[in-house]
Amino acid sequence: SHAREQLDRLLVSVPDFPEPGILFRDLAPVFADGDAFHAIVDDLASRFAGQFDAVAGVEARGFVLAAAVAYAASAGVLVVRKAGKLPGEVLRETYDLEYGSASLELEPDRLPVGSRVLVLDDVLATGGTLAASSRLIQRAGYSVVGFGVVLELGELDGRARLGDVPTYSIASL
Ligand code: IMP
Repeated sequence: SHAREQLDRLLVSVPDFPEPGILFRDLAPVFADGDAFHAIVDDLASRFAGQFDAVAGVEARGFVLAAAVAYAASAGVLVVRKAGKLPGEVLRETYDLEYGSASLELEPDRLPVGSRVLVLDDVLATGGTLAASSRLIQRAGYSVVGFGVVLELGELDGRARLGDVPTYSIASL
C-alpha cells in the first residue's frame, strides 16, 4: 500500500534506546512528512470506515492519529491519558511494564453508553497499553470495535493480548 511504502521510506530505527538492547522505532519522520502522514491516516480511517462513533487516542502519538482519523470521519475524540493529568473522577487501569508499572486514565461519561470506539496508537509492542486502554473504554460503557496502529512489533505477539477485537497494523516488523 502507499502507506506501507511511506513507512518503509521514512521509518528510523534507533539501537539501544531507551535502554541497551532495545531497538526503538521512531515514527517522528513519518508524522513529519505531509504525504506520509496523509497516507497513514487515510489507511487507518478506511480500514475501519463506518464502524465507529468515536476514536480514542493513547497519549501521546495516539492523540495525533486519533484527531486526524476522527476529523476525517466527523467522529469525536477520546483521550486516554497517562496518570495524573485529568481532574475529577477518572477511571484508571494499571498494567505491568518490564520494570514496574504504568497507569492510564479516562474521563467517564463523555459519550453515550454503547458508543463504538476505535482505539489508535503509534506502536503495538507487548499490547499492555492497548489492553489497558480497552479496559478503560469498556468500563466507561462503550464497545471497542477495533485497534489500529501504524507499526506492530510482531515477534512480541501483542495482538494475542487484545482478544478477538480486529487489530490492524499498517506494517508488522
Ligand atoms: P506496549 O504496551 O508494550 O504494547 O507498548 C506500546 C507503547 O509503547 C505505545 O504507546 C508506544 O508508543 C510505545 N512504544 C513501544 N515500543 C516502541 C517503539 O519502538 N517506538 C515507539 N514507541 C514504542
